[in-house]
Parts: sequence; structure tokens; C-alpha cells
Amino acid sequence: MQYVIEQQAAPSLPVAGSEARFPVRRVYCIGRNYAAHAIEMGHDPDREPPFFFQKNPDNLDPSGVFPYPPKTSDVHHEIEMAVALKSGGIDIPIQSALDHVLGHAVALDMTRRDLQGEAKKLGRPWEIGKAFERSAPIGPLHPVAETGHLDQGRIALNVNGERRQDGDLNQMIWKVPEMIAYLSEYFELAAGDIILSGTPAGVGPVAVGDTLEGSIDGLGSFVVKVV
Ligand code: MN
Repeated sequence: MQYVIEQQAAPSLPVAGSEARFPVRRVYCIGRNYAAHAIEMGHDPDREPPFFFQKNPDNLDPSGVFPYPPKTSDVHHEIEMAVALKSGGIDIPIQSALDHVLGHAVALDMTRRDLQGEAKKLGRPWEIGKAFERSAPIGPLHPVAETGHLDQGRIALNVNGERRQDGDLNQMIWKVPEMIAYLSEYFELAAGDIILSGTPAGVGPVAVGDTLEGSIDGLGSFVVKVV
């Protein structure tokens, strides 16, 4: 195949215990999926229909380094569990949704909160606050074959050794099978898709020099240095 410009390599993620990598197709992120976080952002945590935004596949960054992005002075950490799909489809039933999950990873939905706030106020899309370069640091994928499906267990984030975010996967308002089923009504899901499953309470700003350590029971921890 010939291309008129150089073809970019597909973004991919490391898989724990394997030399093979996971090629990324799309990245979906749910908003306000833990009640305590919805409340801290000024919203009613009632079980309204879920909503999603997207990041770009090449925003995922397994390097463990997060360069402070431009045009902002308020970048927040959001610790989240990433769910990686090995298959997909449309109108996936909740009952079989987990069959499509390859594995999970510890991830961060880094957010230019000031730009996201302006966008919200003006009724504009969120990309400028969410989908910037290297905005989704992510650890290695842990296959379900090793960990089982994760629907409970601690999810936490330390900044410079101090606990900032703390929750349990069982506090998700929309559970992983529900998110997959819901998304598949609106989009065709497929192998390579990643879903970021929302953040517990305690989001806050980061500064250059900070060390972020995210952890999820069953997945270990992932360290990111802000530079
Ligand atoms: Mn988030």
C-alpha cells in the first residue's frame, strides 16, 4: 500500500505479562460516574442517563511522564479504571457485555479544568479541556484471564505520597456492562476500543514536579511524573 504522506503507527498499549501490545481504536470516557464526584462538581448524583465524551487514541500515554499542557493553569487529576475491548458490536445486551472485555488498566483522565469549565458555561464541546496531547496516562493492560472482571475494590490516587482520591469500583453509578451496552446503542463498538469508567471524588490540581500514583485493587499501581 502506498500513502501520500507517511503513515502513522497505530497507538498501542503494553499488556502485563506479554510482549504483544493492544492496538487502540477509540477512547470513550464517561462523565460523573461516581456520586461523590458528581456532587463535588456541583451536580445531582441521581441516576440520569450516562453521557460520554471521547479522547483521541494517541492521547493515551503509557510512558509515566505527563508534560504540563499549554493554555491552562488548572490541570486536574482524575484516576479511572480503563476497560479494553477485544470485540464489540451494536446493541450489545448487558448480560453478554463482559464477554467483550479483554482487560483493565489504571488510567488518568487529565483535564484542563479551566478550559472545560469555560466550555461547559458556553455550551461548547469538551475536547479543548479533555482531549489534548498525552492527556490520558495509562498503565499496562491486565487481562481478565488473570484478574477476573473487576466490579469492586479500592481505586485511589496519591499525589506526592498523600491520598487525594479514594473510592471503590462498586460505587460506579453505571457499571461496566451497562456502559458497554449503552455505548453500543449509539456507536459500533469494536476490538481496540477503550472505555474510561469515571473518577471517584477528590479531583484536584497538579503542579510540575508532582508524582501521581494511581492504584486499583487487582491492577497494582501506576506512577506518573508531572514535568
Ligand atoms: Mn473523567
